[in-house]
Amino acid sequence: MRGVYSNVYFPCRWAPLRRRRLKDPCRGRYVSCECIATCGILEGKKLEIVLDVKGCNFNCKLCWGYKLRYEAKPIIKSTKDVVDDIVCRYRRVRFLEKKGYRMFDLRFSGNEPSLQWDHVVEVINAVSKLGIFRKVIVETNGVLFADKPELLERLRGIRGIYVDIDVSFKGVNPKQFRYISGMPEEYFYKQIEGFVNLYEFVRKNALRNINVNPVLGINHEPKYYYRGRLLQVEIVFPWGEKMDFYDYDDVFRREVLSRAKLRYDEAPFREYYGINKERARELVTTIYRGKKYPHKLPSDVIKNP
Ligand code: SF4
Repeated sequence: MRGVYSNVYFPCRWAPLRRRRLKDPCRGRYVSCECIATCGILEGKKLEIVLDVKGCNFNCKLCWGYKLRYEAKPIIKSTKDVVDDIVCRYRRVRFLEKKGYRMFDLRFSGNEPSLQWDHVVEVINAVSKLGIFRKVIVETNGVLFADKPELLERLRGIRGIYVDIDVSFKGVNPKQFRYISGMPEEYFYKQIEGFVNLYEFVRKNALRNINVNPVLGINHEPKYYYRGRLLQVEIVFPWGEKMDFYDYDDVFRREVLSRAKLRYDEAPFREYYGINKERARELVTTIYRGKKYPHKLPSDVIKNP
């Protein structure tokens, strides 16, 4: 079973280690080797290997994987090739163990893993036998689990490893969803349905190694350092009104919040290399030295305040 990935190198994943004068041994060769296993930090001294899948059924305006989706070359790999890349990457970062770092998780990120679900589940099963990871994290928008509930059946076969399925909500009501995701409002309810299907399947089948978590998939925590300068970034509607991520839709409250606590992403909005700046500007107001700059990104403001 083959999967489609992209291997744009994101230096920000290694940045906390670089600040501690630790060099990424794969930085110069990652792209030319067509490797797909990058390494980053989850928190503290927990390391993670990240796989960026390519292709999505949404086209979110703040998506940091825009360039992965539309500009990066597709890298097609069999499950064995993926595992080989993971093991190679793991061996190359083991020197960090002397500094107290430990490999913790494998993360499926980038675009949308559910579009190649059979491959993803096959990789999870293969890595569960390696003994390298404590858990696997899968980030998904969840809608395919509403339209194709047969995908849920694949979860039954996952053994020997913990799996977090993070359903990344693009807003907490249909209006926010429409502007953030660029999709019709009814897909907001598909996200909810997909989350409920996943959550209930795992609960009813007592799959104790799998957790289904609702996550607000928008980096929105306001403080942001750009090139050493402190800015604030607000996520706004195109007409400038700030989005309130506690303004829950009734169905969202009933179907999602009654089951699990919504996890808010603590990371601030960041101008990742992979975003489409033009699209992101529609939903951003940058505040710098007390002045508001609607529809300008931090780099626009710092370059030309
Ligand atoms: S943010 Fe996630 S769901 Fe939205 S376009 Fe990007 S990869 Fe797809």
